[in-house]
Formats: sequence, structure tokens, C-alpha cells
Amino acid sequence: MRECFEIRATDAGGRLGELTVPRADATVETPALLPVINPNLDTISPRRLADEFGAEILITNSYIIHGTEDVREEALEYGLHEVLDFPGAIMTDSGSFQLAEYGEIDVTTEEILEFQHAIGSDIGTPVDIPTPPDVSRERAEAELETTQERLEAAEAVDTGEMLVSAPVQGSTYPDLRERAGRHADATDLDVFPVGAVVPLMNDYRYDDVVDAVAAAKRGLGADAPVHLFGAGHPMMFALAAAMGCDLFDSAAYALYARDDRYLTVRGTRNLDDLAYFPCSCPVCAAHSPAEIRDLPDRKREQELAAHNLHVTFAEIRRIKQAIRAGTLLELVEQRARSHPTMLDGYRTLLDHAAELERTDPVSKGAFFYTSHESARRPEVRRHHRRLDRLSVPDSLLLTEGDAPRGDEFDASWRVEPPFGPFPRALSKSYPLTAEVPDRTDRAAVAAAADGVTRLVESNPDTEFTLAHRGWPAPIRDRLPARVELVDLTGE
Ligand SMILES: [Zn+2]
Repeated sequence: MRECFEIRATDAGGRLGELTVPRADATVETPALLPVINPNLDTISPRRLADEFGAEILITNSYIIHGTEDVREEALEYGLHEVLDFPGAIMTDSGSFQLAEYGEIDVTTEEILEFQHAIGSDIGTPVDIPTPPDVSRERAEAELETTQERLEAAEAVDTGEMLVSAPVQGSTYPDLRERAGRHADATDLDVFPVGAVVPLMNDYRYDDVVDAVAAAKRGLGADAPVHLFGAGHPMMFALAAAMGCDLFDSAAYALYARDDRYLTVRGTRNLDDLAYFPCSCPVCAAHSPAEIRDLPDRKREQELAAHNLHVTFAEIRRIKQAIRAGTLLELVEQRARSHPTMLDGYRTLLDHAAELERTDPVSKGAFFYTSHESARRPEVRRHHRRLDRLSVPDSLLLTEGDAPRGDEFDASWRVEPPFGPFPRALSKSYPLTAEVPDRTDRAAVAAAADGVTRLVESNPDTEFTLAHRGWPAPIRDRLPARVELVDLTGE
């Protein structure tokens, strides 16, 4: 177990955890949001972030501080906590973003880490190379090698109690991301940002984000705290949390506010298009959109930024509650309906159901089948695997109907889409207590048929009869030929 991170509860790939930040003498509950503070532009003061929004941690850029003489001297003299007036933990970025934007920066990993330590940062960052998506493999490999050298250089710097992050790069090559994750995990560094995913998010490529994170996590150990670097839109937090991301930073709350853009968990709205506010935060409760539009620029930006932050923190709380209640995937399903590309992200997440299953609790409160994607949830997969271990008699009826009265069969099991067959004794156990719509869909029936096939194939000596409610021919045809079929709808 990593000393600085403890996982308290899990749901799907998501986890509730505690990040101990010794230098700040603070414990940060995760998933956590790190609002981004630009040391030169204060939209919402760090003190307000702590007092009004409950921010436990924020992130600011040590490279900008280093390059701005008066701020640098002040930070060196008084320390970041005092200069920013923030009582929680402070993470600092290193200038890697500037490196990606402008091609070069004038500090080394050793210099910037020593500087971050000197100004009192609680979590420092080396200068990694944020390789963009879709570059050549040669470039991605070469830059990853440089990033790995920088992580090794970072290990050698005496940073005292300051935690140090180890960014995981590898562009859009899953095997490189996995290799990068494994390398980072083997260092003695502490927090693991998945880097350079912002261009993917800006292009709404949530499916590729999911693949990049899943690959990085395969390399990182299960106990590594993972930071999704630059994930600022609350619409995608539930998806990212379900993948196992623990830290998010948000510059979006301020950047969007500057352009009169209003964040919601279902996407972004333009202030000009709103006649009503779909929100009950203090800003929206006290003002109409017209009133906000009439404010002077600076004031309008601050009010919008405050709303954007309220929505963002509320979503983090909703996610934490969902993990605790075991309903995180239901929340992801709701968010997936907000944009077709989010749905692609959710469907890609379900491609990784085997990885999610490892941390998904065996028992939860309820399983709600709310979309045909629910048929691919880890619980369905786990039930199918469990079928291999159940003992069966010589002749077995699997039925969507009532138990038979006669003794034609040795036993009768229930069949419920999307799970498939199970002994009646398990009816009251999770996830077979699922709430499923009466008007079931083809994906659920197909998943149930997969369960039947799995049971039949692992028990070659048993005679199986399946009594189904009008399963479509293409699904029936996929069942093993030796299963006797009875259509309960009589068609
Ligand atoms: Zn609001």
C-alpha cells in the first residue's frame, strides 16, 4: 500500500479515498477537485475557494510564478500558502503545459522541483513531455523515454515531505501508456497524473480518453492515486471517476466564465441562450440570466465562475455519494445521455468491464437496468463467471416463467435478462434483485442467452430445457443446439 493514499470504498472502477499530504498537514478526500489558480489572475480568491466552496486542495503553476519576478520573490519569502492565502493543500504544475504550447521552457526538472519545494508547494511536478494524441509511434516512444528520465531525475531531488507527481504519458498508444504506468509505479514518486488528454477532451474523444486511462491504470498499481490532468468539465467527472481517477483539476470554471459560458453536468450553455437558470446554487437562486447579463464584465465573470464552481463541486459530491451507495454506474449512464460522445465514452468503459469487476463490490443496494448498456455492466459479467461454479443436476429447466408442477425435471432455475439463469435460492442476492423494465430489450435478452450458453457449455452431461418469452430467432440460434426450447408465449 502506498503510504499517502488509502482507499475506503469502491464502486465499479471508482473509489472513495484519502490522500495524505504531509507537508500541508492535511488529508484530502478523493475524488477531489483541484481548482486551478492563475497566480496573476484571481477570478475567485483561494480563501473563498476554501471557505465558500469547501476546496481542500488547489493547483497553481510554479513555472508562471518562477517567471514573474515580483510573485517569485514574494513566494520565496513568504511561501505559497501565505501568498495565496489558502489553508488546504497546494499542488504545483511545472511548466510542461507551456513546454507543449511553446516548444521550450528555461528550467530543468531539478531546478523546478527545488523551486517548488522552496516556495512551499505540497505536491510538486517534474517537467514531463506532454505528447499530444495521434503522433508517430517513434515520437511517442522517444518523448516517453525523456519523461521517464525526468521522473528518475525527480526521484533523486531532495524534496523533503513534499509529494511529487509522476505523469504518465504515451500519447494514444495503449501499450505505451501501460508501460509508462508501470515505470511510474516503480518509482518512489507519489501521485500519478494521466497527462496530455486535454486535446482528446477538447475534441470530445471520450472513448480515447477512457482507453488512455484504462491503459495507464493497467500499468499503475491498484493503490496508486490517479490524477486526470486537465479534466475540467463536470459532465465527464462521473465517467472519469468510474475509470478510477481520483483527482481532477479545473481551469474550466474560470476560462468558460470569461466567455459567458455556463457549465452544467449535461454540457455547456451560452449565457445569452438562457432565459432561466437550471440550477439552485446561490448565484442562480439570487439572479435571473438577464440580471447576470446586465452586470459589468468583471462582475459577470465572477458570478459565472462561482456558478461553474458550485456545479463542479456538487458533481464531485454526487459522485462520492454514488460510490458510497453503489450507484456510480447509474450516474455514469445518466451523464452518458448528455452527449453522443459521452455515450461513446461509457460504451468504451464497458469494454473494460473485466478491469472494473476487480474493484466492483460483490453486493450493493440495487442494480437498476436503465439502458441497454446496462447489459454489459461488470455485475452481469461476474454472474456469468459464477455460473461455471454452480453445480447442476442431470436434467434442468431454465425458465422465464413459473416453476413447473410435475417432476419432469430434476430442478428448475429462473432466467432473468440480462443475467440469464440462476438457482431460485439466489433470487434475493445481488445483483439478481435488479430492477429491470418489463419491456426488456434485445441487449438484455442477448446477455441472458450468453449466460445460458455458458452454463450449458460448462455442464456437458446435463440435459437443458429453456422456456423463454419469445426470444428472437437470431438470439435463439446462438444457443447450443442441444438445448430444448419452449416458447412460453406460444408462438
Ligand atoms: Zn448555479
